[in-house]
Amino acid sequence: MSDDETIFEKIIAREIPARIVYETDAVLAFLDANPLAPGHTLVVPKEAYERVGEMPDDVASEVFAAVHELTPKVEDAANADAVTVGINDGEAAGQEVPHVHVHLVPRFEGDGGGPIHAVAGDRPDLSDEELDAIADEISDAEA
Ligand code: AMP
Repeated sequence: MSDDETIFEKIIAREIPARIVYETDAVLAFLDANPLAPGHTLVVPKEAYERVGEMPDDVASEVFAAVHELTPKVEDAANADAVTVGINDGEAAGQEVPHVHVHLVPRFEGDGGGPIHAVAGDRPDLSDEELDAIADEISDAEA
């Protein structure tokens, strides 16, 4: 778990205001304060974990259950055509608040945004051997 209290812990503790749209014992969801689109929602575990892989299985399951329930609701509420569901997992990926959060960003036909594929820089040109090696590394890793 993270050592320092983040802005999201203050929201969870009701120390600062937020537009809360969903709550269970383990999960809170609220509108992003600087939305990329109307209805941009953040889904967070109430316990403070910085990285996705640090969440225990049950917490991760609860977070995804909330994402599953909220994604169509957010899309409908925003009268959107789609939703981008994403996590900046780690500083190098753009994570600014070190408390796991799932972004639900309503998307609209012709909104000028891009797909998740737009987040990376230059694509690597990987050989079959390199692809095999990284696949083995992932599949053989300890849970
Ligand atoms: P990330 O870059 O993935 O860490 O995203 C952090 C998100 O938290 C940004 O989209 C911010 O707009 C959002 N955010 C920061 N402070 C607040 C706040 N007090 N209430 C709601 N959302 C916030």
